[in-house]
Amino acid sequence: MEPEKTRTGDSAGAGGRLKSGWASGGSASSSTAATDHRVYLRPGFDWRAADAYLFDIDGTLLNSRDAVHYHAFHHAVEHFFGLDLRLDGIPVHGNTDIGILRAYLEAANVPESEWQPRVPDVTAFMCAEVTRNAEDLRIEICPGILSGLNHLQSQGKLLGVASGNLESIGWAKVEKCGLRGYFSFGAFSGEREKRDDIIAHGIRQARALHGPETCVYVVGDTPADIASAHANNAPVIAAATGIYSFSELLDHNPEMCIACCEDLLQPDLDDAPKPEI
Ligand SMILES: [Mg+2]
Repeated sequence: MEPEKTRTGDSAGAGGRLKSGWASGGSASSSTAATDHRVYLRPGFDWRAADAYLFDIDGTLLNSRDAVHYHAFHHAVEHFFGLDLRLDGIPVHGNTDIGILRAYLEAANVPESEWQPRVPDVTAFMCAEVTRNAEDLRIEICPGILSGLNHLQSQGKLLGVASGNLESIGWAKVEKCGLRGYFSFGAFSGEREKRDDIIAHGIRQARALHGPETCVYVVGDTPADIASAHANNAPVIAAATGIYSFSELLDHNPEMCIACCEDLLQPDLDDAPKPEI
């Protein structure tokens, strides 16, 4: 199908770090998967105390070393809006698929009244494209995730995902790397644009499954995860396995900050001091 119209242009600020789930071609994002084992634990915070844990996907559970999601986005906006911008200047870190679409179309001066009614068709197109190309997904599980998930599962914790991905795209990544079986539910972008609302939806699902008093912690890799968890009065464990460093995450005051989920299982964790940064 030919695009209805063609707009071209450059997006500003090219060259920034790419969101891990949005690797473009050969330039996959530079993970800062830390090799050290610094841990920050807010005094009095017990990371084991939650009944349920909501994990972000990109940069937290996994990093995508492919361009499947990135190309699906570009093919969709080309198909529906005739646009051929690149995402490089769009704020994607900690953003949601709908938020990225909004930023992209605003950068292209497409009126919201024109694009908003088409969001369901655009997102369906993106999801279908990722499903069609799922065998090209190259997923790396983040360091320590398997041991961390196995530990939480062994403790009977309820596990869910809360991601800015569209639902079928998020699950495709999780499925591809064999983590799907750990999770009982998920909250995604799509009907919800803001990460605050996605996390709120995840918390509602956890409480629907486990009871109204269910205590939920969020696990994420960006300042946006930290802010959105706190906006929902949920404590957050920040893991420096995406593009943000331990120090950058610590600046946003998570209840806990770790280099990777392996650090959750350190035997002397409870004595962890606040690191010098
Ligand atoms: Mg993330």
